[in-house]
Amino acid sequence: MPNIAFFCIPAHGHTNPTLGVVQELVAGGNRVRYYSYNCMEEKITAAGAEFVSCDGFDSQQKLTPDEAARLGSDLALSTRVLVDTTLALDEHIRTELAAFRPDCIVADSMAIWGRLAAQKLGVPFVSSTTTFAFNRHSAKVMKQSPKGLLGMLFALPRINCQLDRLRAAGYPVKNVLELISNDENTHTVVYTSPMFQPCAETFSEKFSFVGPSIRPAAQQVEKTREKLVYLSMGTVNNDMLPLYRDTVAALAHSGWQVILSVGEQTDPQALGPLPAGITAHRQVDQIAVLQQADAFVSHCGMNSASESLYYGVPLVTLPQTPEQQGVANRVLQLGAGIRPASARGSDIRKALETLFADSSYRERAAAIGQDFRRCSGAKGAAQKILSLCK
Ligand code: UDP
Repeated sequence: MPNIAFFCIPAHGHTNPTLGVVQELVAGGNRVRYYSYNCMEEKITAAGAEFVSCDGFDSQQKLTPDEAARLGSDLALSTRVLVDTTLALDEHIRTELAAFRPDCIVADSMAIWGRLAAQKLGVPFVSSTTTFAFNRHSAKVMKQSPKGLLGMLFALPRINCQLDRLRAAGYPVKNVLELISNDENTHTVVYTSPMFQPCAETFSEKFSFVGPSIRPAAQQVEKTREKLVYLSMGTVNNDMLPLYRDTVAALAHSGWQVILSVGEQTDPQALGPLPAGITAHRQVDQIAVLQQADAFVSHCGMNSASESLYYGVPLVTLPQTPEQQGVANRVLQLGAGIRPASARGSDIRKALETLFADSSYRERAAAIGQDFRRCSGAKGAAQKILSLCK
């Protein structure tokens, strides 16, 4: 039976979609060893993999809070973190893998140390992509904002310094795009569908669009009004008390049921007494809420947007990072959501009214959800990995 090694960065959004694949592989009698970080250990072992800790090598944990907040949007900083981590892990991983002797290595597209280790050892490799696959066609469609492009231009000299450090350590890296884009010759699993992925037809046959992995709901949510609006800014950059306050005020007399997930950094009590029909929580069972929701006011993290569309729920888009901007743009292009004129509560309310007045948003969201359901899922991803094992 083959041995499979997984690598990932310490982010739930990048880890969660791989867990179903791990379960499939383990259920088939394969041995899976997962190189990740202690904060992910519980869910990785629950999926049936052996866990190997990369803590102590993670330069992300040495960042100041200010740097950590900029990580998704500051390309130079992100590259520095990737390069630091790759160099710190280099020897640890090579020794570990020499003992485990994997038949295939699967690494998140950001965990570049996994891909580089596969190259060094000559082991078959699968890239695991939890965002959209990225090439020059899809980049154009996802329309990087002028601000994003400018940021990238100014960041380039700093990025090149980081790449020099990789080259000095014997990694043949040409440019930053090679690190972060998906290349045509690499077997790649993408956790979205051909319809949601921009320009899916421009990717080679090595790409498998297996669809998002949606975990089951653990609870049931009661719908108390005709319309249910759900608001969440995700689990990372969600410290946004003014936005929550303003939205609560604007939706107070809407007649809608409103559920806010404000995240661990905000105390729901800080919102004061809430109007009838509105509740706020640090965290909710998002799948259970989306099964009842009529609209999702969202930062458009890839997981949140996919979960919403899976249940045919249209979105009001409030992206905060370039990656979320790309997801939001795709939602808008496919007519499954609406961008408010600003992040003010009054504009969010107007956007919701437009959404509810036109059933086409819901229909388009449902069509994408159908496309997700047609995908091969975790089973398809597992089959692809096993087909590469000699
Ligand atoms: N989530 C949840 N409950 C909440 C808020 C978020 O279960 O109250 C889950 C959500 O279902 C999704 C993940 O957290 O799977 C958020 O991932 P996403 O990629 O959307 O955003 P991030 O948190 O990485 O910014």
